[in-house]
Amino acid sequence: MDGKLDRLSGHRSEPGWYSEKLNAPDTRIAVFTADKLMVHAGPAGSGGMQWHSSEQLPVLVQGTEPVFLGIDTEGVNHFAAQAADNELEPADGMIALDLRSIALQGLVSDDNLGLAAQARALLQWHVRHRFCSNCGASTRPDDAGYKRVCDTCSGEHFPRTDPVAIIAITRGQSMLLGRSARFASGMYSTLAGFVEPGETAEDAARREVFEESGIRVGEVRYVMSQPWPFPANLMLGMAGEATSEEITIDPDELDDARWFSFDEINAMGNGSHPDGLQLPPDISIAHHLIRQIMDG
Ligand SMILES: [Zn+2]
Repeated sequence: MDGKLDRLSGHRSEPGWYSEKLNAPDTRIAVFTADKLMVHAGPAGSGGMQWHSSEQLPVLVQGTEPVFLGIDTEGVNHFAAQAADNELEPADGMIALDLRSIALQGLVSDDNLGLAAQARALLQWHVRHRFCSNCGASTRPDDAGYKRVCDTCSGEHFPRTDPVAIIAITRGQSMLLGRSARFASGMYSTLAGFVEPGETAEDAARREVFEESGIRVGEVRYVMSQPWPFPANLMLGMAGEATSEEITIDPDELDDARWFSFDEINAMGNGSHPDGLQLPPDISIAHHLIRQIMDG
């Protein structure tokens, strides 16, 4: 598989389209066993996702229907499915790993990682939304996995994506970074929080930073985004300028927050910080956001 897949969102609701794609002879299906994806066990960067054919499906999958991921430039359809048996044994040369470990170990390409994130977010949504939130009756999947329908009240339900504002706050040549108790020891990152209903991402960023650190933020601009399927977040990376300096942390949210000079952050990034402090790993949007803002 090369490059990103075409999700064909304009075709997914056509009658017969889903089963035709699913049953095409060269269709490839990625299988999750519990929250683990099967991948090739090779040296870092050499691996790939393990793909199954549609003939293998009846023994692999039950309950949740496979979801359509997209079609590649050669016309091969890609799906993802949840294994019926949560202890499914991977074939020789394969391992089953959670997405964080796959990403941290660099086992698959960035495009494959994006596909795995898409698959996990969709499959998790199906597992958690089997009943109608309007009337409580059972729902069924539709539109190749991008909708669930309630036949009792005709309600339609769509996969959730929960926006999170994550923001790099600067003051001259310094950046505000904090750490929560759940972070790895010595790791500091940009502050983040969920966008609430009726709120812009920019206002959410200002509110979260003020609540967690007491810092007031002026202008805010959008920089980049990253899907983060744990379970269904969309990280909205932003940059902002502080209009105050004195930090007052919210101890329920943070263990610590400080202003770090860009020199100190560079040392954290290349592992030479005298106190062993570190940045988040490069699979995270925080890592790329921090780097990009410092590079101007
Ligand atoms: Zn209903």
